[in-house]
Amino acid sequence: MYLKSLELSGFKSFAKKSTLHFTSRITGIVGPNGSGKSNTAEAFRFVLGEQSIKSLRGKRGEDMIWNGGGEAGSGRANRANAKLVFDNTHKLFPTIDFDEVTIERVVHRDNSNEYLLNGSQVRLKDIIELLAGAHIGATGHHIISQGEADRILSASIRERREMIEDALGLKMYQWKKLESIRKLERTEQNMKEVESLRREITPHLRFLKKQVEKVEKAEELRRELIALYKEYFREEEYFIRIEKERIAREIAGPRKELAELELALEKAKTILTDSKNKDTKSDSIIALEEKLARTRIEKDTIMRELGRLEGEMHANARVIEKEKEKQKRDEFKTVYVKDLEEVVQSIESLRSIEDARTLFTEVLSTLKGFIARHRSATDSALIAEAEQEIASLSRNRNELEAKLKGISDTESAVTKEYNDLKGAIEKEKDTNREAEKDVFRIIARQNEVRTIVAKLTQESGICMHIEAEFKREAGEAGMMAGRDAVTYEKISDAHHSDRVAQEERHRKIERNKIRLEDSGAAGGSEVLKEYKETEERDAFLARELLDLEKAKTELLTLVTELDARIDFEFKNGILKINTEFQKYFNLMFGGGRAELVVVKETKRRKKSDVEDLGDLISDPNEDASEESGPEGLDVNVNLPRKKVKGLMMLSGGERALTSIALLFAISQVNPPPFIILDETDAALDEANSKKYGDMIENLSKHSQLILITHNRETMSRAGVLYGVTMGGDGASRLLSIAFEEAVAVAK
Ligand code: ATP
Repeated sequence: MYLKSLELSGFKSFAKKSTLHFTSRITGIVGPNGSGKSNTAEAFRFVLGEQSIKSLRGKRGEDMIWNGGGEAGSGRANRANAKLVFDNTHKLFPTIDFDEVTIERVVHRDNSNEYLLNGSQVRLKDIIELLAGAHIGATGHHIISQGEADRILSASIRERREMIEDALGLKMYQWKKLESIRKLERTEQNMKEVESLRREITPHLRFLKKQVEKVEKAEELRRELIALYKEYFREEEYFIRIEKERIAREIAGPRKELAELELALEKAKTILTDSKNKDTKSDSIIALEEKLARTRIEKDTIMRELGRLEGEMHANARVIEKEKEKQKRDEFKTVYVKDLEEVVQSIESLRSIEDARTLFTEVLSTLKGFIARHRSATDSALIAEAEQEIASLSRNRNELEAKLKGISDTESAVTKEYNDLKGAIEKEKDTNREAEKDVFRIIARQNEVRTIVAKLTQESGICMHIEAEFKREAGEAGMMAGRDAVTYEKISDAHHSDRVAQEERHRKIERNKIRLEDSGAAGGSEVLKEYKETEERDAFLARELLDLEKAKTELLTLVTELDARIDFEFKNGILKINTEFQKYFNLMFGGGRAELVVVKETKRRKKSDVEDLGDLISDPNEDASEESGPEGLDVNVNLPRKKVKGLMMLSGGERALTSIALLFAISQVNPPPFIILDETDAALDEANSKKYGDMIENLSKHSQLILITHNRETMSRAGVLYGVTMGGDGASRLLSIAFEEAVAVAK
């Protein structure tokens, strides 16, 4: 037994809190008309989430609330409250872990509703799901309200099908199917959206991919460029370094030499400049030569004079000797004045020697004096005169000799001076010649060395230019290819720097640079980032699409499976129901035939009718107004001993019996936890009431029964009986009664 109790408070005529305990498999509710029995059945539907207030005999939710009684009636309630208590020890509600489950609904005067599950507020949806799982559907196939007994017969074939589907517990599957279809629609919608997003992304992605290829190409070029640069700079740095070293090394010697040459040249030039003073020396030597010549002439003159003097003195001595001889033998000897005059004349003719003039004047005067004296003297006087003359000549000679000595000294001094000067001049001439030679040699050498220095300076200039270019290129390389391009290890091993190879490298670099510039891959990192992001997004969308496709396939499979299951369960259920239906029908009518038949709905349907679940999975191309509609259920009855066929031909009682047979058959095949039958037995005669009672007992083996009845036979089958009465206050009162009392209470 699943149903434990129903508690009402402020619900319709149940003003006060009233509780029905369902302790028996069959509970009977009895009472006079209008006492509020049906209100209890409605309370079930109310709790189970019935949304049609009309079907609860009201206009608004407010109508469910105790509205106060008559004159003596108590004041109206603010809320209607109905609570069902279930035993959950056998997991009627498998999702709930409690042994007892209470479902409660409250409606307020503002028509707002509250649903509570074990005291906690939940949504109506939660209640519906919970109940569907327990085969307590909201369509209320197991709650047959008053006058609704033949509802199953009067319903359309489609409604009937729905009712039976619900009774067979297929609503759960249909619900799942509906949910799956909705999911499928959402999935397809999502797929469309994802596909559209992908379509939107695709051209951009393609563009980005091209950009990325460019960037990658550029990156490749950049890497190549870096490698080239590294190699190039390494070699260039090495070249510049060794070139500078070489030039420095090679230029040092020549520079030093040039400095030395400059000094040497200075020196040589100084020598040459100094040699210009040689004119002074030449003048001096000329003067000396002249002086020497003069001295020599003077000396010669003196010598000659001395010679003459000595000659004269000798002559005088010979005169004296001759005279003395003459005196001895010829005392007298004649001197010719004429001769002397000739002498004088000859002396006087020596006038060209100007400087000797003075001397000669003296000599001449002496001679003249001699002549004068001679003219007057005679032989004896001649000797005296000669002696005098000798003495005079001797004195003169002494004087001359003294003079000669002086002049000889002068001569030798001048000669020495001359020779010294001459020697100095000669020596100087040698030095000048050397200096001159030096100047030529130095200048020649200077030219040579200057050429070397100039060459090296030129090379240095080239080297500096190369270095400046190197620095400029390093800067450019850093800008173009990043710092890495200018990060390299210096060459330490000496080797020949191959400039041709280096030129080739440079050409390669230039080519590479142009290609890199032409690649037009600016903002590489951003492009890569965007491409990565877009690609990730696309991949994400692709995955999502795959997931959605998978989900779609799964949903389609699920729908197909559910369809198959529904179809199978439905048809199988119909077969089972028909077996039971036939049995109950037989029991009721003592023969005949009754069955449910699956038929295609043939009447033309309006589009608005297409809310049937079957439609949702039917071919969307199928025209809704076509005749071939979904399957419905018709009821074929064939009463025993009567030729009439069809429901329309049945009497009220026959109709009631057929309904009951079908209801019981359905309940037999898929028993709900409880069944409420509100005066389903109203139209039965005594014999049929008996049969009805038997069937009820049979049915109660599978489902708990709550029977609202006026029927004595039915009452007799109930284990527990509740009497409902209504006092002057218009409020229903509930009391547990014994069968004996029940009959009385029911009246
Ligand atoms: P019968 O045997 O004739 O079918 P019943 O016992 O099933 O009668 P109900 O139909 O359950 O009687 O009860 C109807 C009674 O409940 C009426 O008297 C009606 O006035 C009363 N009732 C219905 N709604 C309210 C309400 N909101 N407030 C007060 N009384 C109400």
